[in-house]
Amino acid sequence: MPDTIFSKIIARRIPARIEYEDDLCLAFHDVAPQAPTHVLVIPKQPIPSLADLTDADEPLVGHLIGVATKLAVKLGLGNGYRLVVNCGRDGGQSVDHLHVHLLGGRSLGWPPG
Ligand code: 5GP
Repeated sequence: MPDTIFSKIIARRIPARIEYEDDLCLAFHDVAPQAPTHVLVIPKQPIPSLADLTDADEPLVGHLIGVATKLAVKLGLGNGYRLVVNCGRDGGQSVDHLHVHLLGGRSLGWPPG
């Protein structure tokens, strides 16, 4: 799989404001935040998108969501927040490395654009 900007962040080849790390994932602040808090939670395994997941990845996906919800508490998003996973061109995905957006700190509109 080709190197993405996120695999470079995992390898510390480009800098990021890292909020959390464990054996399976990394969480860091988005370089172009769309809300006062905008963190990306990514697997260290280079899975391109939701469309590439297999049944064996279900525990990993649960872990990514669990980490995101714990970060929401840590980052003070008690009024609510949103988790978003864009998939593919129509889904608005721009980096081909699976990532969960954690957005909060303001009232978020619905439906999304
Ligand atoms: P997507 O559009 O694929 O769902 O989300 C990709 C996200 O990655 C975007 O919100 C974008 O701002 C963020 N992003 C792209 N390049 C970088 C980078 O080099 N560093 C960080 N921290 N975020 C990035």
